[in-house]
Amino acid sequence: MSFTADRLLLFGATGDLAQRMLLPSLCALDADGLLAEDLKIVGTARSDLSTQAYRNFAREALEKYLPENRRTGVDHFLGRLHYVPVDATTVEGYDELAKEIGDYGNGLAIFLSTAPSLFEATISGLQHAGLTEGNVRIGLEKPLGTDLGSSCEINDAVARAFPEDRIFRIDHYLGKETVQNLLALRFANLLFEPVWNARYIDHVQITVAETVGLESRVAYYDDSGALRDMVQNHMLQLLALVAMEPPTSFDATAVRDEKVKVLRALRPVGRDETVTGQYRAGAVNGAAVPGYDEELGKDSDTETFVAIKAHVDNWRWKGVPFYMRTGKRLPERVTEIVVQFRCIPHSIFEGRGATTQPNRLVIGIQPEENIQLTMMAKVPGLDREGLRLRPVPLDIAMDDAFSGAVRRIAYERLLLDLVEGDQTLFVRRDEVEAQWEWIDAIRKLWVDADIKPKTYGAGSWGPSAAIALAERDGVSWHDE
Ligand code: NAP
Repeated sequence: MSFTADRLLLFGATGDLAQRMLLPSLCALDADGLLAEDLKIVGTARSDLSTQAYRNFAREALEKYLPENRRTGVDHFLGRLHYVPVDATTVEGYDELAKEIGDYGNGLAIFLSTAPSLFEATISGLQHAGLTEGNVRIGLEKPLGTDLGSSCEINDAVARAFPEDRIFRIDHYLGKETVQNLLALRFANLLFEPVWNARYIDHVQITVAETVGLESRVAYYDDSGALRDMVQNHMLQLLALVAMEPPTSFDATAVRDEKVKVLRALRPVGRDETVTGQYRAGAVNGAAVPGYDEELGKDSDTETFVAIKAHVDNWRWKGVPFYMRTGKRLPERVTEIVVQFRCIPHSIFEGRGATTQPNRLVIGIQPEENIQLTMMAKVPGLDREGLRLRPVPLDIAMDDAFSGAVRRIAYERLLLDLVEGDQTLFVRRDEVEAQWEWIDAIRKLWVDADIKPKTYGAGSWGPSAAIALAERDGVSWHDE
């Protein structure tokens, strides 16, 4: 049911995500006049703060994390903020929260930016205070569980209070402009769809590379590892968007129906189709950095790198590998999708000594948002010494093409959609569960086959076995 909420309740309001992303996104939306004038935002966490103290806290976060050129109307935004301290694990406090929220005649949007271990207790508290009744929807941050079983437990707990069409599971990659642009590229152009299949595509690569190491979320990461932190959610969502059939319309049900079909068609990964790694001391961007075990202060079997050769078992993708790799302490920060087309079936230029290379489409998601299609072109000249052909990039740099458009934080889009009730860019329960099923099987394979992470030097592209994983098929990872 469609409604625009006039109350936003933010759990985890003092956390890292709230400071870096949520408060800046909401402030930027407000400055652009995109929040209804009567939208009241109530933040909550355990920290014992008054509303005024929370506004000061929020101001500091905005000064730190909101780009200066978007830092307008801060006082107006701060005026929307209210704060009530609540320990989410006990029902006391939720009545106070309900009192502060007051009448939410138009609807209430709740955002849980807390550890998922708090979700169940939070739902009970909300129920106790009557905050699940009427027009209420709920947004959930990842990670939704650590495996299929725990994910089902969380989903069941939330489903006891909210129907699926009121549950908004966040995968912030879906809020990114280029990720949405992937759909425009595929389905708003005639050129690509006829060649978007096994007949014309040789393979697909998806890379999510980070230069950072453990950073602050030490315990979380060591329990999680690269497979669950990155592949289970973001990378599988990217894969689903690349591989899905055209939906009948750009709406939540149609898009998610097609994504889940892809996720269910993923073939269980074979023993030789995965490589895991853990970084050791090395250099990234010219600076010496310690190894994972040194940062952690103990030995660990957690993978900081994973490469997978995946297959989507359906007609469209028969025989087309999807190579995925992600890791920490890699040489550059980059998220990109590479669609490698096949060779032309016959070259008319061969007799003239000219070679051709297959076309390649590179979709850059971060740090640069751009789309590049490599085409063959003739090198200008009279060809007295033979005809020469060379790959030339056709570039769409989003910043140049849309120079007047504001580049928004992914959470701006997602928070607005949560307040207004558009689920298209949120993950449905069946998608999450299909993702976990595939990931759980990989983890089981690692345990059964006693596969432990191989070491790699910080600043390299992961263990050499990851390079071999692609090279066995005559494929090179892009940018190596
Ligand atoms: P965080 O910095 O540890 O913040 C946790 C928040 O929860 C704080 O506001 C904390 O405030 C509150 N909290 C903890 N225990 C509580 C309790 N018993 N009752 C009420 N509030 C409680 O975590 P975060 O980085 O913001 O992450 C929040 C969620 O988003 C996590 O699930 C995380 O995995 C996910 N996430 C984070 C990021 C990121 O970049 N940070 C990215 C993706 C997903 P008090 O201590 O004042 O209670």
